Amino acid sequence: MYKHPLLDRDKITPKEALEVLVEGNERFTKSLSLHRDLLSIVNITKDKQHPFAAILGCSDSRTASEIIFDQGLGDIFSVRLAGNIASPFAIGSLEFSIKYLGSKLIVVLGHSGCGAVKAACDNYTGGHIGEILKHIQPAVQHEQGLNQHCDSNDLEYVGRVCQSNVEFQIQAILDGSEIISSMLEAKQIGIAAAVYDVSSGRVTFDYSKSLF
Ligand SMILES: [Zn+2]
Repeated sequence: MYKHPLLDRDKITPKEALEVLVEGNERFTKSLSLHRDLLSIVNITKDKQHPFAAILGCSDSRTASEIIFDQGLGDIFSVRLAGNIASPFAIGSLEFSIKYLGSKLIVVLGHSGCGAVKAACDNYTGGHIGEILKHIQPAVQHEQGLNQHCDSNDLEYVGRVCQSNVEFQIQAILDGSEIISSMLEAKQIGIAAAVYDVSSGRVTFDYSKSLF
C-alpha cells in the first residue's frame, strides 16, 4: 500500500500500480476505506503531484475513481467523460499524466448502467451528446454484428457493449497516441481494462484485455 503521495512512486511498476487499485477497491467493497487526513495531504502535495495511475472513467456521479479505489488526493490522475471515451482531449490528458507526472498505469474504466452507452445503443444523436456517442458507436456496431437488433432495454446487451467499449477506447488510445504506445512498448507503463458494477461497488479487471 502506498500511503505517501510522493515518496518512492518512481519505483512502482505498472503491475504494482494495478495491485494498489485492486487492494483499494477490495477495501471499498468491504467498507474498510482508510481514514485519511486530507488536509495534511493538501500540505504534502502543495508543490508537486505524482499520481501513480491515470484513470479514464465515466462522468457518472456513482463512479468517482478516488472513492471506488479508496485513494486520496495526489494518487489518481482522473480523466472523466461520459462513456469513458478516448477523445483527443482525453488522450492528451492521459499523455500528460504518464509522460510528465510519472503515472505508471492507465485504466480505462467502464461501468454497468452507463447512460452514455445506453444512448449509443439507441442511436441517440441530439446536441453535443451525439458527438460523445460517436466514440461509442464502434462498440455498438461490433456487438450488433454479433446479435440481433437490440436496444437499451436489453441490459445484458448493454453490458456487452460496455465491455466492448472499454476495449475500443484502449485501441483508440493506442492508435491516437505515439507517446502512450511507445511508453507501453518500452514497458514503462501498463494499460488495464476494467468495469465497475454500480450495484456492488466492485471493479472487475479484464486481464486478457490489459496490456503490460
Ligand atoms: Zn457512464
